[in-house]
Amino acid sequence: TYVVTDACIKCKYMDCVEVCPVDCFYEGDNMLVIHPAECIDCGVCEPECPAEAILPDTEPGQEQWLELNAKFAEDW
Ligand code: SF4
Repeated sequence: TYVVTDACIKCKYMDCVEVCPVDCFYEGDNMLVIHPAECIDCGVCEPECPAEAILPDTEPGQEQWLELNAKFAEDW
């Protein structure tokens, strides 16, 4: 799955939301998040993000973001 990281905080771009084929972006407190169970790992959103806030969760150090994405997506 892909995760949204802190570079998204207060970001006003929604380019990622528009390209996601399964609409798995949700609004967290001050950033967007990706629902880890709904993301199909297509990678389309990654290059669309002007803030480079979207990364695969396989990158080192993304565990905390994966957790936060999951939490906000469930709360929605
Ligand atoms: Fe949506 Fe694909 Fe990005 Fe997952 S990787 S959030 S399915 S656009």
